[in-house]
Amino acid sequence: MAAYVSKCPRGAYLNSRDLDLGTNKDANTSYAQASIWGLSYFKNNFRRLAQVKTLVDPAGAHDYEGLSYVSETPFIIIDLFKLRSIDIDIEESSWVESGATIREFYYAIAKKSKVYGFPGGICHTIGVGGHISGGGFDTLFGNYHYGLAADNILDAKIVDINGRVLDGKSMGEDLFWAIRGGGGSSFGVILAWKLRLVPVPPSVTVYRESKTIEQVIFDFLFLETFEKLLPWMQDNFPDLCLDQTKFTEMSWIESVLYFAGLPSNEVDVLLQRTQPSKRFFKAKSDYVTEPISEAGLEDLWQRMLQLEASELIPTPYGGRMSEISASETPFPHRKGNLFEIQYLVFWNDDKETEKNIGWLRRLYASMAPYVSKSPRAAYLNYRDLDLDFQQDLGRNHDANTSYAQASIWGLKYFKGNFRRLVHVKTLVDPGNFLRNEQSIPVLPSGQK
Ligand SMILES: Cc1cc2nc3c(=O)[nH]c(=O)nc-3n(C[C@H](O)[C@H](O)[C@H](O)COP(=O)(O)OP(=O)(O)OC[C@H]3O[C@@H](n4cnc5c(N)ncnc54)[C@H](O)[C@@H]3O)c2cc1C
Repeated sequence: MAAYVSKCPRGAYLNSRDLDLGTNKDANTSYAQASIWGLSYFKNNFRRLAQVKTLVDPAGAHDYEGLSYVSETPFIIIDLFKLRSIDIDIEESSWVESGATIREFYYAIAKKSKVYGFPGGICHTIGVGGHISGGGFDTLFGNYHYGLAADNILDAKIVDINGRVLDGKSMGEDLFWAIRGGGGSSFGVILAWKLRLVPVPPSVTVYRESKTIEQVIFDFLFLETFEKLLPWMQDNFPDLCLDQTKFTEMSWIESVLYFAGLPSNEVDVLLQRTQPSKRFFKAKSDYVTEPISEAGLEDLWQRMLQLEASELIPTPYGGRMSEISASETPFPHRKGNLFEIQYLVFWNDDKETEKNIGWLRRLYASMAPYVSKSPRAAYLNYRDLDLDFQQDLGRNHDANTSYAQASIWGLKYFKGNFRRLVHVKTLVDPGNFLRNEQSIPVLPSGQK
């Protein structure tokens, strides 16, 4: 009948639902993909429907333990969704309000320039408010002099506990230090960041190779053209035997889409604020300072293969990260770290929660000999309330958690910077009004 009916699009009636027209394959279906069935039902109204859906289904809220929207005690949610303007000034710096997502920020940069980027985050639906205040890394962060997102904060606006709007100068050196890696929520409400953009070449090279059975994926981003990169790789890493057909040259913004698994020619996708997967997951992190022995790697490998939906993401450190002192910001994991590991497990059915968390705990316990010690370090943005699962001391159980109790989790995230964070917290919020299960505690009065 195609020849005799409406065309481009061939119209259809929603109430006579027809999945043969096209379906969403997963939670990340793009506007372009969904247009295949959407335009048939709604023609030009489909775009507006997608915009309305985006408004009621905001991103951000990526805290691994849901601390921005879940608690066992009554709490307040501050919705910053509408506070998301972005003002890009390539030469000077850029302001981004904290309700924006990192992908909206990337999009705004790419609209202004092809030779600037920002070392933000690999998953782009994360909100800039929580993510940048906890550190924030992506493919640009290590070797090319850029560091973390938090290392590129030039200024900030925050509402403090007394309702005053302060900037980097008026909030004082200590508070400005604390919110660049110590997490924002213990100290106030961050309204906006002033960020330094970083230069990127017009063409970068990406590499992705999947090895089958064990499902290992090698992902790299090089800030060079393939022509310059190849001889350098052959000289320096001949043993890697990289497959030349797996290198692709593209712009930095295309690489952002590429690593997010999005079509690299659809930059507008970055404006969508839909959440990715809605599966359950639990994660833990570690820092590795010495090469892991072969026996250790073999054991790790066997454990990972026990579950189908397990994932291990090693992220190399070094480069710029090693040049920044451990006390420059609250994020202490600098020189001496070879890489960071994130262990993840995913599941769909609530009934499987205990089994999967049990598996992750055993894996984490088995890795103790091979990772950092005293403290066993962890990354704040991979929030883990289960850092002390034997005694459940990895969280604040009430508003009066002492420095000693909170040190159990605090030293893992912040090492020697934890004490300074506690001092700043005591100065700016002595009544501990802003608190959650892992907020920085206050010292008793008289101990500032
Ligand atoms: C799918 C996914 C992918 C990720 N990918 C990366 C990655 O590539 N690199 C990386 O480094 N991390 C990554 N993370 C971790 C991410 O950085 C953290 O989850 C981060 O806390 C998310 O920030 P948010 O604003 O989206 O979350 P939220 O849940 O909104 O906030 C997290 C915390 O920050 C506080 N907060 C948020 N906004 C403000 C504000 N304006 N002022 C004060 N406090 C605030 C909240 O109260 C909460 O305690 C990822 C997380 C997820 C879920």
